[in-house]
Amino acid sequence: METVRTADYFYVMVPDKPGEGARILGELKRAGVNLVAYSGFPSGRGAQLDLVPTDPAAFKALAKEKKWKVKGPKRTFLIDGDDRLGACADVLARLAAAKINVTAMDAGAPPGGGRYAANLFDTHAHLHFPEFAGDLDLVLERARAAGVQRILTNGTDVPTSRAAAAIASREPDVWAAVGIHPHESAEADDAALAEIERLAGKPRVVAIGETGLDFFRNLAPRDVQERAFRSQLALARRTRKPVLVHCREAHEEALRLIAEVDVREAGGIMHCFSGDVGIARRCLDLGLLVSLAGPVTYPKPGALPEVARFVPGDRLVVETDCPFLPPQPYRGKRNEPAYLAITAARVAELRGEPLAELAARMSENGRALFSL
Ligand SMILES: [Zn+2]
Ligand SMILES: [Zn+2]
Repeated sequence: METVRTADYFYVMVPDKPGEGARILGELKRAGVNLVAYSGFPSGRGAQLDLVPTDPAAFKALAKEKKWKVKGPKRTFLIDGDDRLGACADVLARLAAAKINVTAMDAGAPPGGGRYAANLFDTHAHLHFPEFAGDLDLVLERARAAGVQRILTNGTDVPTSRAAAAIASREPDVWAAVGIHPHESAEADDAALAEIERLAGKPRVVAIGETGLDFFRNLAPRDVQERAFRSQLALARRTRKPVLVHCREAHEEALRLIAEVDVREAGGIMHCFSGDVGIARRCLDLGLLVSLAGPVTYPKPGALPEVARFVPGDRLVVETDCPFLPPQPYRGKRNEPAYLAITAARVAELRGEPLAELAARMSENGRALFSL
């Protein structure tokens, strides 16, 4: 999915000698005038620099002040497309098919944008799982390079909640959630819940979870799951922290319990959303955000594309749930936060929105929920 917009471009004539480009770009830098695109080439007896500023008025003011020989503005087209192999070839092929000639074409990441510069927030990861024990530093490095600026790592029982809090205390861009997963709910006795509550008071522990109901795998009896979930919903409410809900094949029961406890004050996230639009609407009504994970990229995504389009931009977040559920190209492998860019790109494509903008908005939703 591409969106086309127009932009002003200017050209500055300079002597054709080394350093002229650096001089102009240096002046722009000092004046805080950002560029979307830049190129330079010999022209006549000098050289021509083509510039597409993000703020044409600021550029013109600077050019006047510096007495640059500026021509323009002329109109150029900017296409916000996918940052993928072959994207430029496809655009040129379509122009050729329509018999439209082009004199110049340039490609680059938009300011603050592009797949690898997107501002992403992985709202659900398990960085403290043994799968990452050997190379967590590299995993975090790749995440940062892929634009993942924040990660929430989620405990699933008392020891992993402790480990999550420990990673969050070490890494500047990692925060923790503490809780007992429905699979482990048989362990959620008073002592365990008291320890979760104690951990919830630690710095950089910003949410309760993951908790919820899993009637798909049923690794704990349903009444035990419900009791543990209810206790943790109450804990979230008491500590005024958002709750991270895991729900598989148990939407009716989970939504009933959430409604009973009423978590709207601090909110929460329906993580790895697996329902349809009707369930999504009910989650939103109960004060939860909807989080999409790798399955939205699968060839058989069920109702998820519809859900991706339905949820308002200010109520949507994305996650990896790593090491589980890798997006399509990495299925069968270990998932990691860097792959969040793929899921986010798919959600942006489904919504017909530029990735950079959507990613920034979803990150802001997570930041606001967890008060980061
Ligand atoms: Zn889960
Ligand atoms: Zn999880």
